[in-house]
Amino acid sequence: MDPSGVAAQTQKSPWGSVGPAGPACSLTEVMSEQLARQLDEENAFPALSDPAVDPLRSEEAPDTASDLMLAQMLQMQFDREFDDQLRREEKKFNGDSKVSISFENYRMVHPYEDSDSSEDEVDWQDTRLDPYRADKPQTTPRRGFSGKGKNITTKHDEDTCGRKNTARMDNFAPEVHVGDGLGMDLKLSNQVFNSLKQHCYSEQRRSARLHEKKEHSTAEQAVDPRTRLLMYKMVNAGVLENINGCISTGKESVVFHADGGSLEEQPVPEEVVLKVFKTTLNEFKNRDRYIKDDYRFKDRFSKLNPRKVIRLWAEKEMHNLSRMKKAGIPCPDVVLLKKHILVMSFIGKEHVPAPKLKDVTLGSEEMKEAYQQVLQMMQQLYQNCSLVHADLSEYNMLWHQDKVWLIDVSQSVEPTHPHGLEFLFRDCRNVSTFFQKRGVSEAMSVYDLFNTVTGLNIPVGAEDEALFMAEIVALEKRNEDHIQKRGKKTFLVTSEDGGPPLEPDSDD
Ligand code: ADP
Ligand code: MG
Repeated sequence: MDPSGVAAQTQKSPWGSVGPAGPACSLTEVMSEQLARQLDEENAFPALSDPAVDPLRSEEAPDTASDLMLAQMLQMQFDREFDDQLRREEKKFNGDSKVSISFENYRMVHPYEDSDSSEDEVDWQDTRLDPYRADKPQTTPRRGFSGKGKNITTKHDEDTCGRKNTARMDNFAPEVHVGDGLGMDLKLSNQVFNSLKQHCYSEQRRSARLHEKKEHSTAEQAVDPRTRLLMYKMVNAGVLENINGCISTGKESVVFHADGGSLEEQPVPEEVVLKVFKTTLNEFKNRDRYIKDDYRFKDRFSKLNPRKVIRLWAEKEMHNLSRMKKAGIPCPDVVLLKKHILVMSFIGKEHVPAPKLKDVTLGSEEMKEAYQQVLQMMQQLYQNCSLVHADLSEYNMLWHQDKVWLIDVSQSVEPTHPHGLEFLFRDCRNVSTFFQKRGVSEAMSVYDLFNTVTGLNIPVGAEDEALFMAEIVALEKRNEDHIQKRGKKTFLVTSEDGGPPLEPDSDD
């Protein structure tokens, strides 16, 4: 085949071959079909032919093409007329009476469909458009209602109130999430709104309290910012090299281990402890009686606020420790007192605190030795230091360098304290029970121990605790009367058999 011939053929029409033309049709036919279609269209959508007229907007030309629409519109009109009639009847029924009966529930048209009563809806929609606007709730005029005639809206109107309440949620504290109620047509009844408001206030108060507590309390493990600052200052001043970690967290104190630095007047031991008295007041409230009736602190106690009372505990421990030191009782050396933090020497070695007497395993000889030491310490404490430990037990005695060491003396009181002898009796019971349990045959009964420590001679009799306690309480009462009559400093407790008197307080 000749390729040039093919090219010549295809070049005839670059758009391809034209198909055969359709059947021929006369002009009249075409004209009549078009006319028919046009007439059809004109009948179905008459308004479309005139773009200037919008049937949806035109009031004069409502859409009446649909029977359903027509029926609904007629029904609406009927309902409105019914409602108007109802309003007239309502007005007539209520007259000028202050208390009125509402016919609202009998109305046929929903207030939102009722364009006649849409005055407040428009207002509301303004708010809805900008839910973040700090919007004042719509106020009703002073006369208590707005609108005229059938459109009257009183300030008690349920919907108006509901919307006002919703708008008022905007005034809640920023941390209270009110959700997007403002963006909806939400109507809160007064009751709901009031409970929300109440909840919001109580939440605010609670969070304030929590915050306060967090800021000012010494938490279980950590310390509050003020205490941390005090501790930091001690390191900064070189009194401490380092604060290492917590040895114990008790109900009333947190004890930290630290490396000693240097202090101008005295050398700071290599290892020290910081006893931080907790600034949560609750625990100390129970212990008021230890300090309140201690004449050394009595005058100051009543004048102090609770936070300062806590400092008194630290101060008390410091004074008591120095008295004990003077009497030669093994106990920590006081290094420094700063507000509610007491720094003292560490009983233990290389970061390991000495074990409590309750935790240590001793041979029977050692245990006997320990008992003798404790007995001697109790006597020294009472007779030389004029102190009753008041929390003496195997928990507050440490075993270190083959010796018993006494710690935790913040609550210790003078024997002349109104309950001092009762506290001593309790100490004696703890001590004798512990050593008897540990098999120390020499351990005295609580009554003998009490008499030995005090040098008193309360008859033991049939070992009736109630009788013994009655004697103790009577003695305390007599002491108290003496104090009242002769003044605290001149009073000496002497045993009935002329035992050693208690020295008056001299070192603080
Ligand atoms: P609390 O009043 O909380 O009982 P303590 O003074 O008894 O306070 O101390 C609590 C614990 O801290 C003690 O049981 C002891 O293990 C440890 N501790 C306290 N002081 C010292 C110290 N000076 N050296 C070593 N450990 C100590
Ligand atoms: Mg203790």
